[in-house]
Amino acid sequence: MRNIRDTKLLFELSQPGRRAMQLPACDVPAQPPEQLLPENSLASTPPPLPELSEPQVIRHFINLSQRNMSVDTHFYPLGSCTMKYNPKRNERAAAMPTFADLHPYQPAETLQGMLHVLYEMQTYLQEISGLDACCLQPAAGAHGELTALWVAAAYFRDIDEKRNRVLVPDSAHGTNPASASMAGFKAVTVKTTPDGTVDQEDFHRKLDERVAVLMITNPNTVGIFEPQIQEMITAVHGAGGLVYLDGANMNAILGITRPGDWGGEGVDMQHFNPHKTFSGPHGGGGPGAGPICVVEKLAPYLPSPVVVRDQEAGEAARYYLDFERPQSIGRVRTFFGNVGVLLRAYCYIRTHGPEGLRQVSENAVLNANYLLSRVKHFLPVPQGHRCMHEFVASAQTLKHDKEVTAMDVAKRLLDYGFHAPTVYFPLSVKEAIMVEPTETESKETLDAFAETLFRITEEDPDLLHDAPHTTPVSRPDEVQAARQPVLCHLAD
Ligand SMILES: *Cc1c(COP(=O)(O)O)cnc(C)c1O
Repeated sequence: MRNIRDTKLLFELSQPGRRAMQLPACDVPAQPPEQLLPENSLASTPPPLPELSEPQVIRHFINLSQRNMSVDTHFYPLGSCTMKYNPKRNERAAAMPTFADLHPYQPAETLQGMLHVLYEMQTYLQEISGLDACCLQPAAGAHGELTALWVAAAYFRDIDEKRNRVLVPDSAHGTNPASASMAGFKAVTVKTTPDGTVDQEDFHRKLDERVAVLMITNPNTVGIFEPQIQEMITAVHGAGGLVYLDGANMNAILGITRPGDWGGEGVDMQHFNPHKTFSGPHGGGGPGAGPICVVEKLAPYLPSPVVVRDQEAGEAARYYLDFERPQSIGRVRTFFGNVGVLLRAYCYIRTHGPEGLRQVSENAVLNANYLLSRVKHFLPVPQGHRCMHEFVASAQTLKHDKEVTAMDVAKRLLDYGFHAPTVYFPLSVKEAIMVEPTETESKETLDAFAETLFRITEEDPDLLHDAPHTTPVSRPDEVQAARQPVLCHLAD
């Protein structure tokens, strides 16, 4: 592969006057721009856009696209992100003109097919979560968290209780404390024990009448189903608070257990990540979605509109958008949310059916445990011999013995054609390497990955410190790349 630095930017390839197409000469009198627009709306010079032929543009972007790693090209065990294969039939369904060509301002009578699908999607998510009501609007998991916390805030305002704290275990995703503060709460960290579960003593110490919500991820980010979940739910409810499930790890429990049933009382709210659990493509910054489900008493506060049906199911059923919801927190997203992702997820759920979804989770857990059993002998997994859908290994011993870090291992994997696992998360594990294989990988792929990881732990540390050696870019300064991206080199 050529070095990325040899790739010219479109601006550098530009030749004055070169065009992708030639329009015929204008056969009506030309209007000077000043006659069409007010003077202050006119630029003094044309914008400095690159001038290129069509093949130049196509080759430029296709070549860049092939420098990517994706689930369609490589094994992608990025822990916590559920990077499963995206079935192509879902793409076809979402691209059907009957969906893709709709305009959100069309009257509801002309959107019956789409509204029908969205309505059913709401009921499927209610069924899978064991909760009573659903809103599809939030644009991502993190946005679902924020929306649900606004719902909780509206509920406590209504019942006239001043609660300003949200409990968040320290193994949680960074979005949890961030959503809590954005919704106006104070995020209070609850410790994790060395076995990777919530520290019960610390939890009970911090639970009081100031707590509005416990946000909990279950199975948690080290891939363990919290054994005390029932007691925690009962305790939070006893103290008058609500329980929020971060549903990013639903891939481990579909059809096996429902958060709304846990401990007989169940959680009160949760989000789904359709782009993770239900195979929507993600990872390239594309749109996700973050539908939330809640218990009955919180339903009136959900964002408006929700999709409702005015008759029993069947031919005669009519669907419409309900805006008449006086206690609603209002809109959190334009139109109906990120419908494209929801359609793909709907298609995925329908394809698998209830039994199939359960098998998805069983196989995800089986694959993760198989890989765990192969990896733990050379990369210790501090928190257990069994896991749910993912596990967290540690490169701490490797670092101590050979000065090889989790980052070195992750970077070297790229040379062998594997996407790197998540590293340095969760913070509760030192030199964390978080692996989530998902159910879509074959035994051969899992074996090849385990063997490659082992081979890397045996390699010369010097080779690892400046890996990868075969990719277009090796080790960019990630902080600078995020803060000061070089987006174009315009000759000035
Ligand atoms: C991915 C993830 C989130 C955030 O979801 P987005 O859809 O990326 O906003 C929250 N919590 C956990 C545990 C996650 O893995």
